[in-house]
Amino acid sequence: MGLLDTGRGVADMARNLPEIGNIRKKIAYEEERINELLADIGRKYYVTRKVDKEAFDKLCEEIDAKRIKVKKMEYGINSMKGFKVCPKCRAEISERYLFCGVCGTKLPNIIDDDFSKLDPSEYYTDSNGFFAAIPYEAK
Ligand SMILES: [Zn+2]
Repeated sequence: MGLLDTGRGVADMARNLPEIGNIRKKIAYEEERINELLADIGRKYYVTRKVDKEAFDKLCEEIDAKRIKVKKMEYGINSMKGFKVCPKCRAEISERYLFCGVCGTKLPNIIDDDFSKLDPSEYYTDSNGFFAAIPYEAK
């Protein structure tokens, strides 16, 4: 079983490579848009020196929606490669498992999970860890 699984996994991955490349481009695009939205918030404040809560909330919601979208795409890529990334400790776990073997967190299911229910700290997106640095606990 192990050998067959591995063989199929490698073949699947090779077939998925162009698709993974496309998804990565989409992720990069969404991350760029997220940074533009963040800049919009900063620019609006800088120009007016006022917090327009309604406008800022709208921009924040747009950012949240894009981050969830990116998170889904990241899980999609991982799933094509045959593993899941633990949302809590970032360990890479075989997609056969429901729980993280390192920290015990329930692992996401790309098909069933409603990603909108993730805590914001669980769907940070960008590769340099920008969102991970936001102290959500402090709010
Ligand atoms: Zn974990």
